[in-house]
Amino acid sequence: MRARGSGGIFCPMSSSRHDKQAEVAVVKCGDYSDVEDVYRSLKSLVSRLGGIQRFVKRGERVLIKPNLLAGDHPDKAVTTHPSVVAGMVRLVKEAGGVPYIGDSPCIVKFESVRGPTGMVEVAEKYGATLVGLTSPVDIAVPNGVIMKRLIVAREALDADVVICLSKLKTHGYTAFTGAVKNMFGVVPGLLKSDYHLRMPRVDDFAKMLLDVYAAVPARLHVMDAVWTMEGQKGPRAGRPKHVGLLIAGSDGIAVDAVACAIVGIEPDSVPTTRIGHAEGKGVGKLQEIEVLGESLEGVRATDFEIARKAVGFADRLPPFLFQLLRNRLSNKPRIEPKTCRLCMTCFKACPPQAIYCREGKKRLFIDYSKCIRCYCCLESCPHDAVEIKEGLFTKLRRRRGSSEGTK
Ligand code: SF4
Ligand code: SF4
Repeated sequence: MRARGSGGIFCPMSSSRHDKQAEVAVVKCGDYSDVEDVYRSLKSLVSRLGGIQRFVKRGERVLIKPNLLAGDHPDKAVTTHPSVVAGMVRLVKEAGGVPYIGDSPCIVKFESVRGPTGMVEVAEKYGATLVGLTSPVDIAVPNGVIMKRLIVAREALDADVVICLSKLKTHGYTAFTGAVKNMFGVVPGLLKSDYHLRMPRVDDFAKMLLDVYAAVPARLHVMDAVWTMEGQKGPRAGRPKHVGLLIAGSDGIAVDAVACAIVGIEPDSVPTTRIGHAEGKGVGKLQEIEVLGESLEGVRATDFEIARKAVGFADRLPPFLFQLLRNRLSNKPRIEPKTCRLCMTCFKACPPQAIYCREGKKRLFIDYSKCIRCYCCLESCPHDAVEIKEGLFTKLRRRRGSSEGTK
């Protein structure tokens, strides 16, 4: 077990620069219906990286960290599919490890998502312990890209091994969510909102994500790209899209880069990939990544609708122009009153408390002077009532027949 103590823990982050190619394995996996098929595909995937024994030793406590953003049915492609989690539990047990399945959704409790997402069934059937990542511990991150300290879940630090089981999805704020973004789940619950608030610019937010990624390092990253999510409304309300792949590697930044290339997102357009590569936290350049198994050319997804970056251009402006022009140029969330059921989930999720109710009006509004475009409202809304209103910049780019982040 990694040495941990109480508050003020020193985190030994690697600062070494990448000096060799990363390896990322890609295998086909048609669907989730046959759990044996998924298990065999997963085993074949991990065997290309040296087998599960390379990542898990006998007796080690292994935290399997799926993407459990919300308590949605697995068919909605919001969460890592239970068949993939089940396959990983079996592999961990074969290696003699002790599997735990854990996450920490932002708004709702882990207890309320574990049933609907299929995790309870997996844990009972295959023998794993479910654990909410809820206990905050303050750790030092001396080699952080932007953070000096972080609050992460003790349950994640207490594991001997972390295996990240991400889901390939578009994201209205960060363009893409995969391996690196999935590790944000080790920050307990609503504390995530605090980080959003402190890092309103997407590049700074990405740097914070990279610090979390390095502070709780996963030994293995496996991405569920069988059914993915496409479109502007990812990661919660986009459309499920079949890609039919499992992707894995020990370098999450390289896994993200390959996944992006497969679905037509320029890896450099994803801030965590671009900055993570530049900062030596992983390999984000395709030419420095060896793809094992399927060839990239053979598995490229066609017609995958990417998310046009929400802030993009305005994010790179100096502070005074940033605030002024962001409202005019960049995309913004809008609560659709006809669909909104006034459940107030977005209200609780909004880091700067930009969502409000006007007296006498039975609907919610957004104060755009406060809104930091984090899209936590879109991510948390259980009724798909948050729309994205395109800014002028996106409209212009669309007219020119291109958009940020495309190939
Ligand atoms: S979370 Fe969705 S349904 Fe609930 S109040 Fe917000 S917009 Fe309305
Ligand atoms: S309104 Fe939505 S996008 Fe704006 S700050 Fe609140 S949660 Fe973030």
